[in-house]
Amino acid sequence: MKISQERIRRTFGFIPTATFADGVCHLIGGFGNCGVVETDEGLVIFDITMKPLGPKIFRDLRKVSDKPVKYIIYSHGHFDHCFGFAPFLQEIMEKGWEMPEVIAHENCVKRFEKYRMLDKYHIWLNQQQFASLKTPVEVSAHETLDPTIIIKGNEIYTFELGGFTFELYPEWGETDDAIWLWVPNKKVIFAGDLMVSHFPNVGNPYKVQRYPKHWALAMERMMEKNADYLVPGHGELIEGKEKVKEVLSITAEAMHFVHDEVVKRMNEGKWFEQIFHEMLEIFPEKFKNHPYLLPMYGCYEFAIHAVYRLYHGWYDTGNPTDLFPAKSADVAKEFLKVADSTKFLEQAKKTIEQGKLQLALHLLDVIINGSESENALLLETLKLKSKVLKQKANTETSFIANKINNKGALTLRHKIKELKKKLKS
Ligand SMILES: [Zn+2]
Repeated sequence: MKISQERIRRTFGFIPTATFADGVCHLIGGFGNCGVVETDEGLVIFDITMKPLGPKIFRDLRKVSDKPVKYIIYSHGHFDHCFGFAPFLQEIMEKGWEMPEVIAHENCVKRFEKYRMLDKYHIWLNQQQFASLKTPVEVSAHETLDPTIIIKGNEIYTFELGGFTFELYPEWGETDDAIWLWVPNKKVIFAGDLMVSHFPNVGNPYKVQRYPKHWALAMERMMEKNADYLVPGHGELIEGKEKVKEVLSITAEAMHFVHDEVVKRMNEGKWFEQIFHEMLEIFPEKFKNHPYLLPMYGCYEFAIHAVYRLYHGWYDTGNPTDLFPAKSADVAKEFLKVADSTKFLEQAKKTIEQGKLQLALHLLDVIINGSESENALLLETLKLKSKVLKQKANTETSFIANKINNKGALTLRHKIKELKKKLKS
């Protein structure tokens, strides 16, 4: 499957500002959309994007309205939604305006605390996830615009401004600190990352637990509103009752599907490997090809992991060999005593010819992990693995899966360079 560059650009925020609902609401694109509701008494802002894009969001906002910001709502505490606040604060200082109320869920506050505790780890983690991007992505919660109104548990929070009612609903989905906003006067939903315009980011391999079933239920609660507009956390405005309903309903259906089918198989006493491969077999075409379920960032495979992990511990094969496994290098060394590297390389090449790239990687790893000497055969193996990873990356439309393969190829490139130098000398 090939996703067009234009679609990718639009999904990740390269979109012109959309003004809608009688000119009262705006969607300003950034990596993490900024939603705006204009009232006679000032602005309500839903998400303020990431730090580097704060100035862009701010400039675009000031092109459509010069009113003061009265409320800032965080859809959740991820770095692309609540860290672009600097230009907003600067304006408030310069104009002598009152500070806005900042609304977030109590779990968002806990998230910021966690980010501070795991500061260095998160920098490292994001360097992994976003490796091979030209600009490094660093997340720091040392500077935050902290909430002044904190929503607790599943309490629905409502406020009024300029004749408009704002209803905030806490949910779990991508995170446990999600809030979506319903503006009944204009029939608009601001969804945050509960709607990302592609396959839900549920089950990111680097990140903490996410919640497919809750996600489905959140979609269904949104559907009850019969909204005319839906502002996603990423991607373009979704307009029209039918379209909004269809997008919410297919997402709910996909989340129910992955959840219920994994649970069914867990109840049948199956271990992860069997569940995973069975799930790949039964993935319905209607989800595979739906424009709002394309695997652009997360993907179906990640979601399968998310469900299993939600209900299961880390011992996931049922094979006691895997309880406390030996070092992979030691295992590989033993394999190489049975058959030497040449045999493994030959077999890897055969599997590549047959298009079985994943199997080829397992074979190549025996040589890479188990070789005790650095020689031309190891060099050839490293080059071949790098080629296979790039091939896999090219077919991965999921940003995360693509970057993992590319990061692997990048790491190998350094190794190859070093080894070439050594072999020459
Ligand atoms: Zn986001």
